[in-house]
Amino acid sequence: MSENTSAALPIVVIGAGPIGLAAAAQLLDRGLEPLVLEAGQTAGAAVREWSHVRLFSPWAEVTDPAAEKLLAPTGWVRPDGVAYPTGGDWAEQYLQPLADVLGERVRFGARVTGVSRTGRDRVVDADRDQQPFTVHIRYADGHEARILARAVIDASGTWATPSPLGGDGLPALGERAAADHVTYRVPDLKDPAVRARYAGKRTAIIGSGASAFTALAYLADLAKEAPGTHAVWILRRGITGSTFGGGASDQLPARGALGLAAKAAVDEGHADVVTGFRTTVVERSGDRLVLVGEDGRRLDPVDEVIGLTGFRPDLSFLDELRLGLDERLQAPVELAPLIDPNVHSCGTVYPHGVKELSHPEQGAYLVGMKSYGRAPTFLAMTGYEQVRSIAAALAGDQEAAERVELTLPETGVCGGAGLFDEPTAEQNEESGGCCATPATLPIGDTTTAPGGC
Ligand SMILES: Cc1cc2nc3c(=O)[nH]c(=O)nc-3n(C[C@H](O)[C@H](O)[C@H](O)COP(=O)(O)OP(=O)(O)OC[C@H]3O[C@@H](n4cnc5c(N)ncnc54)[C@H](O)[C@@H]3O)c2cc1C
Repeated sequence: MSENTSAALPIVVIGAGPIGLAAAAQLLDRGLEPLVLEAGQTAGAAVREWSHVRLFSPWAEVTDPAAEKLLAPTGWVRPDGVAYPTGGDWAEQYLQPLADVLGERVRFGARVTGVSRTGRDRVVDADRDQQPFTVHIRYADGHEARILARAVIDASGTWATPSPLGGDGLPALGERAAADHVTYRVPDLKDPAVRARYAGKRTAIIGSGASAFTALAYLADLAKEAPGTHAVWILRRGITGSTFGGGASDQLPARGALGLAAKAAVDEGHADVVTGFRTTVVERSGDRLVLVGEDGRRLDPVDEVIGLTGFRPDLSFLDELRLGLDERLQAPVELAPLIDPNVHSCGTVYPHGVKELSHPEQGAYLVGMKSYGRAPTFLAMTGYEQVRSIAAALAGDQEAAERVELTLPETGVCGGAGLFDEPTAEQNEESGGCCATPATLPIGDTTTAPGGC
């Protein structure tokens, strides 16, 4: 296929979540033609699954500038910038209107099942970069199709692939068989059926990030109305000064408040804490479950388990592409060192763009939550900057692609005295926390980061 023909092809964006839709807006702003393929039937299909959870970022930090520009002629006005949307608000008041403006450029019920180079599997070198991408799709009605693309931006997130309970990263023995009593999501206790599942029950919560804090706070609230409701909070690490996050020193105050609410749940006796526990077996005991740790400890039976130990990317449909991924985080190799919890003690998020997001397979990009692989520190505004830079690069504007236009708030406990007591890599991984540098850094410059992150 000639370069001219290839240039006429759309740029396929996988996923109509916040970052995929922002990618489409940024591409349009550059005069490029996006085609967004979304597995769900609505914009923000993943975000809607946590509709009941309030974001710790205010509206001003979760909308994309190019998207706002696209929405403006419709009379859309961004909700109060200092107010905090729920996932449901984010989807209904911003993502869906944005998808509506994009119109036929967004296809719903279109699951991407494979991406490759046309006529070239992963092994073949010949003229590889000259071949357009081929994107395989399965539509909701079951029929399959192929679309050719000039470039592919994968913004499919990680929501559908939560990490299992097992401390070794694999499902614990018995975990699958106990599926009727295990969830990997923060439960929506406003739903009467869900409420009944936890009211008056003993529930294990595994994990130590914002989602675990939220679940602890929810169950503590429920305990005030439904006696007998009790949580057992299971941490792979011990309790340190940083366990409850940055508190008042978190530059995202709502995120700091989540940690304080979790602390209150423990202090008020609504949750017991079990530390240094790595689940290896989930045993049935009548209708209840017994969690067994690597060290042989057996916890008292619980009725329910909520596993909130992070997410991981689904790379299966990208298998024919030559991706350069870090072997630990499964994030792009140049991005990984910037977000690696093994190196950055508080999960630093450095501004970055097309340079860090490129792969040996030219024209293929992972963005958004998925670009972070297993690192837990992704923020929407980071993703908006990623897709701005990629759109600029695809439009041939290298200067704009390399310029970082982002100042991130410091979140978590970077530099907070005594709050992070030299956590191990595992502690960071488990935390699912967010912690970002407040500086505007040149792309790739990690030497001037403040706060000892
Ligand atoms: C509970 C929770 C609270 C959060 N709070 C904040 C916050 O306060 N501030 C902040 O900055 N960040 C927050 N985040 C992190 C992050 O900003 C969000 O997860 C955000 O939704 C990530 O956007 P995304 O577009 O990368 O992925 P997603 O929102 O997950 O969107 C991915 C989309 O791709 C679709 N998809 C998946 N696979 C396919 C496929 N094969 N083919 C086609 N479509 C596919 C999905 O249906 C989905 O619509 C939070 C995350 C969670 C889980």
